[in-house]
Amino acid sequence: MSFSVHGLSVGRGLGGGIAIGRAVRVLSSRASVAHYFIAPERVDQEIARLRDARHAVVDEMQRLQQSLTTQSSKDAPHELSAIMDVHLMLLQDETLADGVRHYITERHYNAEWALTTQLEVIAAQFDEMHDPYMRERKGDLEQVVERVLTHLQGTAQLAQTQATANLAREEPVVLVAHDLSPADMIRFKSGVFIGFVTDVGGKTSHTAIVARSLGIPAIVGAKSASSLVRQDDWVVVDADAGVLIVNPSERVLDEYRRKQALAAQAKAPSVNGEPLFALDGTPITVLANIELPSDAKAALAVGAQGIGLFRTEFLFMGRVQLPDEEEQYAAYSEVVLAMKGLPVTIRTIDIGADKPLEGDHVQAKAAHTNPALGLRAIRWCLAEPAMFLTQLRALLRAAVHGRIRVLIPMLAHEREIKQTMLLVDRARTELSSNGVAYGEIELGAMIEVPAAALITSIFLKYFDFLSIGTNDLIQYTLAVDRADEAVAHLYDAMHPAVQFLLEKTIKECITAGKPVSVCGEMAGDTSHTKALLAMGLREFSMHPTQVVEFRNSIKK
Ligand code: PEP
Ligand code: MG
Repeated sequence: MSFSVHGLSVGRGLGGGIAIGRAVRVLSSRASVAHYFIAPERVDQEIARLRDARHAVVDEMQRLQQSLTTQSSKDAPHELSAIMDVHLMLLQDETLADGVRHYITERHYNAEWALTTQLEVIAAQFDEMHDPYMRERKGDLEQVVERVLTHLQGTAQLAQTQATANLAREEPVVLVAHDLSPADMIRFKSGVFIGFVTDVGGKTSHTAIVARSLGIPAIVGAKSASSLVRQDDWVVVDADAGVLIVNPSERVLDEYRRKQALAAQAKAPSVNGEPLFALDGTPITVLANIELPSDAKAALAVGAQGIGLFRTEFLFMGRVQLPDEEEQYAAYSEVVLAMKGLPVTIRTIDIGADKPLEGDHVQAKAAHTNPALGLRAIRWCLAEPAMFLTQLRALLRAAVHGRIRVLIPMLAHEREIKQTMLLVDRARTELSSNGVAYGEIELGAMIEVPAAALITSIFLKYFDFLSIGTNDLIQYTLAVDRADEAVAHLYDAMHPAVQFLLEKTIKECITAGKPVSVCGEMAGDTSHTKALLAMGLREFSMHPTQVVEFRNSIKK
């Protein structure tokens, strides 16, 4: 380990404590590659897997080159053959092969991870070259690696089930990237990384939200972190302070290890589900926000009294084929059954803005001049009724297994409410006419557009409950992009305009006798708890990782 401090970067800490580990720089475009440790006894097989993939690509390219030379020279330009030569040379270059072998043998990275790590190391060297021709070869290298990755895919699943190692034995690793999409971040759930750092991103971007739900130290908006940190550097991620230290000295490291130990002691030893009350004696309900059905376990483990927000769009992201009714029905039923009779609030798909779809869908293809103001959430659902009806049918069917509260995001117009209601009725009719069983649901709306907050009384005519999405409500009230770290200093939950809209919505719900909750990041941020309680709020929905701290803050 070398211990001269060569860098310090400051960003927006998402909490989660302190992580100390080796940096793994991941190119944003390669974040979807599998990252896992292999058992030491599987090293030879992993190297063989990679060698086979490399040979397959060499064969493929040689065959292609041969077919080029047999065609007429007009059809087979020299340049193409020359490019193939460069690709073959890069593929057989020992710098690539040695580096990859090193990461598999010494670090126990799986083949795909080792390959993209070494790609990143060589790509950085290309970037530093003065000769523009040489710099451009980086693109060729990336194409070659892409081909090898495609071949590795064939053996990926089997390799992962057979080769996964005991995490505790491996060196801790921290992911450092320029940017990560929410879909990439969700892939890292239950993964190998003990901390995350990205150059860009605001505190309430969806990437940050997923990172926070992992309950591990994370910093977003660390500006130049990914260029400051080199592959394999040791780093300290202090996510409470938003500080990243690169190659810390032994003294600094000791200090952070001490802080880490103190933080571990301070964590509540166990969870108790005792009821919580506000000062006026009224009960406080703590609900959990989840992104995947498997998160329900974590919600129960911390004593959440139900699910206040299941962001179903994560079932739709990072894939070309959208989930069909059966897949969705299975996912929603899984959560409802796991929660054993507790209420489960399932939000209909909120795709768009920083959660784009992939593939050939209207939403994915649309030219998004201003995605946060575009075809997002309920707007897309109403534009694609067949897709929306599929989700609604799946939700109604899952309601047979327990209490489901369906939550509609991003509504602003009364006519959108009416269209939504018509589609819910149509979904019921379709199920009935096919003899398919379905259950009762409660219907709620998110208040996350200022226009909706200003016409709460209209919303209350139609809906059983409301849930305030402060992440978007703040973004749209203050015209501050929640994902843009350049304006993050203007993103302010305490702005009087935001406070006004919050108080107005909460008070009108109380007067109407309808439940209201906050499910944005503000709900789990204990610095806002007092203010929200004073407005009359009694239902808070947050990441499972925040529930214990929230409970403790109320009991104090
Ligand atoms: C919100 O906007 O506050 C919210 C909970 O929804 P999301 O963060 O998924 O946009
Ligand atoms: Mg929102």
